[in-house]
Amino acid sequence: MANIAFTNIDKTYPGGTQAIMDFSLAIADGERVALVGPSGCGKSTLLRLLAGLETPTHGQLSIGGEVVNYQSPQQRNVAMVFQDYALYPHMSVRRNLEFPLKMRNLPRVEIERQVHWVTDLLSLNGLLDRLPRQLSGGQRQRVAMGRALVRQPAVFLMDEPLSNLDARLRVQIRAEISDLLARTSATTLYVTHDQAEAMTLGQRVVVLDHGRLQQSASPQELYERPANTFVAGFIGNPPMNLLPAQLTGTSEERLRLRIGKQSLPLAVSAATVALWRQWLETPLSIGIRPEHLHLATEMDEGLRTTVQDAEYLGHETLLYLHIDSLAPPAPVAVMRLSGMRAFHKGEMLRLLLSPAHLHLFDAAGLALDHGVAGCDARY
Ligand code: ADP
Repeated sequence: MANIAFTNIDKTYPGGTQAIMDFSLAIADGERVALVGPSGCGKSTLLRLLAGLETPTHGQLSIGGEVVNYQSPQQRNVAMVFQDYALYPHMSVRRNLEFPLKMRNLPRVEIERQVHWVTDLLSLNGLLDRLPRQLSGGQRQRVAMGRALVRQPAVFLMDEPLSNLDARLRVQIRAEISDLLARTSATTLYVTHDQAEAMTLGQRVVVLDHGRLQQSASPQELYERPANTFVAGFIGNPPMNLLPAQLTGTSEERLRLRIGKQSLPLAVSAATVALWRQWLETPLSIGIRPEHLHLATEMDEGLRTTVQDAEYLGHETLLYLHIDSLAPPAPVAVMRLSGMRAFHKGEMLRLLLSPAHLHLFDAAGLALDHGVAGCDARY
């Protein structure tokens, strides 16, 4: 069993950098967790703590139910793949794979059995007699993973293993890793700053910022119900639009949304009106994803905006919009339209905000409600 538990972990480096603050997370045996966050948020520190390369300043770290705070890396059955995967350049692929097993003084027949297993797992059959310099970047990466997996670790740690590869290869190897991880039973923690990688590789995604856990959820939950404005603004490409707004209401049944000097009707259910009334006239941020902004018809009261820029991407068009009457530094809203659509700079557009997909956040950025659950899906 190799479940992992971080309990109230703090890590302060000598010199005073507080890299991790009060971090708690339980990972189940065999689970694949992707850890994502901006550069410097503490992702590698968490991995290094787990690998035994760093010691927590406070808190408890356990693997398989055993507290490992003071165990050496060798005492933990943990393997790690770094971004600058170092293979021994003078050794063939076969000898690179054998090396960690020889270090453990395993019998020859056992070494051969394990190397055979990992060779099959990673499709390395034709490459065993080559030297690392005779391999492509992607093949070298596979061998590096093989070398980490060959001793069948209970915990497999990957620290940005794809960041040295070009974009095309990244996508290809990402699919290979995803397939591989699904076939191994090792509990995996995968670190990346790339949200697409996190969302495709993790059964669960943990978002970190400034050393603190922001949210731990399935990729879908993270996208549909971000816990705060940080997660809303980090997950999604382009990310969720976040606009300063207030709810106003002239009667018991109806709500309006005030954005700058504009006021829009909100077509939400009576239950949602009843719930949201508690936040009337409170400074809020509303969140809406680019795909949930729609062009208003002549009949609708829409949000008035001005086109600042348009990106034609072939399968979709991204519009960058200034919202009229929002004082600078007003955020630019991004709208996603499918297909190629021609717009010109300075064009005025009126938008509908799909209320079924409106997220409310308080002034501190914490989620109050997600429209998906509470609204009439009108659009
Ligand atoms: P990430 O992997 O998310 O980029 P890191 O875990 O590497 O972040 O770093 C988190 C913070 O800790 C950063 O501010 C970094 O400068 C600092 N840090 C990392 N390693 C050390 C170290 N050995 N000594 C001092 N500070 C460090």
